[in-house]
This record gives sequence, structure tokens and C-alpha cells, in this order.
Amino acid sequence: MSEKSKNEEVEFSFKCPSCEKGKIKILKTTYDVPDGDKMLLIKFECNTCNFTNNDIIPLTTNNTPGIMTLRVSNENDLKSKIYRSPVGRLEIPELELFVEPGPRADFYYTNVEGILFRFENAVTIYRKNLEKDDVQIEEIDKILQDLHKALKGEFKFTLIITDTGGGSYIIPEDELKYSFEKLENNELN
Ligand SMILES: [Zn+2]
Repeated sequence: MSEKSKNEEVEFSFKCPSCEKGKIKILKTTYDVPDGDKMLLIKFECNTCNFTNNDIIPLTTNNTPGIMTLRVSNENDLKSKIYRSPVGRLEIPELELFVEPGPRADFYYTNVEGILFRFENAVTIYRKNLEKDDVQIEEIDKILQDLHKALKGEFKFTLIITDTGGGSYIIPEDELKYSFEKLENNELN
């Protein structure tokens, strides 16, 4: 993966929107996506506080509807990058995690670890709001346990994005664990 990306670092002197003291550093990386497309990743970093932000610009457009599958079995796989378009449905069946597309869904760029953290946060909040004798607690604790293992790369799972409009990407750390299956027209509705 890394040999395929070109890094270019540019220092800009605009003020950090968060702390208003630091300067924002911009890191640009061009990625070659496995299916031949190119994307520009832009990362903003403050040199004073911990403000960071990511932006992503597809340089070529992937309009092929399909199912992207990534097998995650170690810590390195957690760094694989995920880009979900507003029509992409993301799921991790082994963890009962589903992110449905919706009219208010944003383009969404993160890595596998970021998805797990977000989910862990949501499940933890959900559990806190349950009564002590709620029947769901046992199942939720099992999911949290698996999630903690997953974040250490000790739980194997599959991350699947089904995108009927095209535009979603998975950039795997290990290309052997990635597969893409094209959706035919009759499967789109
Ligand atoms: Zn700052």
C-alpha cells in the first residue's frame, strides 16, 4: 500500500479554528485505489492543540455499484482506509454493526479502527441507559468484549460496504484481504 502513495507535506500559516493559536499543517497524499481510481487525501493538523481534520477528494470517480469486502484479522488491517458514500451501506456482521445509508448521511472517511471506536462509543452509551436487569445486557457485554478484542487486532471480522451508486472505497493495508464484487443492474433495486 505505502509504496503506491505519494506523500507531499505543505506547511501553511493559517490559524487553527479550534485553539486560534496554532498553525495548521496540511498533509496531502494521493492514493491509487485497487480498482485503478485515484483519490486525494488531505489531512489538517494543528501544531499546538490536537485539532485534526480529514478531507478526501476522488480524483477519478468510481461509479461501479458493488460489494466491497475486507477481511480484518490483525492490527495492521485496522489501518485500512474506509470511504463510504451517502448511499453506501456498511456492516460488520460478526459485531452486529450496521450503518444504513440515508438522506442525511454524509460522505464519511475514516479507517477501520475509527469505525470500531465510533461503534464502541455508541454501544457504551446505549448500555448505560439500560435498567440493571435488562435482558439485553448480556448480549451487549459480549459485543463490547469482542469490540475490545477487535481494537487490538485479536478478533477476526468482515467489513462489507454495499454501494448501489458507486463512490465508496476501501483502501486495504493488505490487498489480499480485499475483494470487490460488481452488482448487476437487476440487483440494484
Ligand atoms: Zn489548534
